[in-house]
Amino acid sequence: MDLLEYQGKQLFARHGLRVSSGKAVDSVEDAVAAAGEIGYPVVVKAQVLIGGRGKAGGVKLAADEAEVREHAQNILGMDIKGHTVRTVWIEHASDIASEYYASILLDRSAKKPLLMFSIEGGVDIEEVAEKTPEKLIRHHIDPLAGLSRDEALQVAREGKADEDIVEGVADALLALYEVWLEEDATLAEINPLIVTPEREVKALDSKVSLDGNALYRHPENQSLSDSENEDPLERRAKEEGVQYVKLDGNIGILGNGAGLVMSTLDVVAQAGGSPANFLDAGGGSNAETIKQAVDLILANTAVTAVLFNIFGGITRCDEVAEGLIAAFGEIKPTVPFVVRLDGTNDEEGRRLLAEADLPNVHPAKTMNEAAEKVVALAAGEAVGASA
Ligand code: GDP
Ligand code: MN
Repeated sequence: MDLLEYQGKQLFARHGLRVSSGKAVDSVEDAVAAAGEIGYPVVVKAQVLIGGRGKAGGVKLAADEAEVREHAQNILGMDIKGHTVRTVWIEHASDIASEYYASILLDRSAKKPLLMFSIEGGVDIEEVAEKTPEKLIRHHIDPLAGLSRDEALQVAREGKADEDIVEGVADALLALYEVWLEEDATLAEINPLIVTPEREVKALDSKVSLDGNALYRHPENQSLSDSENEDPLERRAKEEGVQYVKLDGNIGILGNGAGLVMSTLDVVAQAGGSPANFLDAGGGSNAETIKQAVDLILANTAVTAVLFNIFGGITRCDEVAEGLIAAFGEIKPTVPFVVRLDGTNDEEGRRLLAEADLPNVHPAKTMNEAAEKVVALAAGEAVGASA
């Protein structure tokens, strides 16, 4: 779950990281009123779940009321890489002496949190990593020992932070680790982490992703989910309690069990296809669940073919077949379906499907055969009957 900049900064503040206070508003009049309370100069910042807002014209300094009005008017409703700006954040403008970079993310291959720090902040950090990797300090944190003050100081010194503020940088890194750990974040990034002329170290921006599966431990963070900017299909799936993730391709996928669905995505990709979604119908999928799932998969208009990959354990294949038959009766899909039923009651399931003689439903015996068939069908090719 990604947070907007101001939400991330509010989390930072709770853990003692210095940020400017400000106000989130969604109209020009409220922006002007907020700026009046905060005091000029202010900065008007688009709140969208995408970086590079500054370059896109979504971050503007304003010296007086006329400028706030102008910038708020331009930024509200602006499209930034496909994200419409509905909210702007107004904060007192900071004076900047230096722009640094700091982030912590989970490095899955090392099985440890990775702390990164650079004094080349404010810019595209990927570029720093590529062109001058020696300027990006990478430090793995022992998850059992945590981040010590000595380690944080060492990272700040190794990164060549100005000597008079290494303590301030270390404090910021320690606070950032506390955010990452205690809030169950998967990413906590500050770009830029600024040094002011008064030699204060402060987070000017934030990029925070929280682990959605840990959200139940943080009731105070639950209201942060930005449902307005969420994918509408994923939001619907969440409301219906379906495990669904939208992907970029055109082949709808349904399986039972997360592991099976993941390998189905892989096999489809291997066969040259591109999955349109992840959907885990779960164990014990009954007819009603299947109907709901088909409805959801087909609500994505990019889908040109669907693959059902069911391995019956607790799930009974005959029940899945019944669900599919019922779904076809109601929804009357126009795209081809490939169905692989294997495991508990698979013969019964296949018999039911054969009897129902659904238009455009192609049985398959193995996962590879199913993947190849669905890839061909999605591309509009005809396929022969199952061997
Ligand atoms: P991003 O472009 O989406 O990463 O948005 P940022 O919040 O990082 O802002 C982009 C840039 O705007 C920063 O790197 C700063 O150079 C500048 N900026 C943002 N806030 C302030 C501010 O309070 N004062 C000054 N002088 N510049 C700011
Ligand atoms: Mn930034």
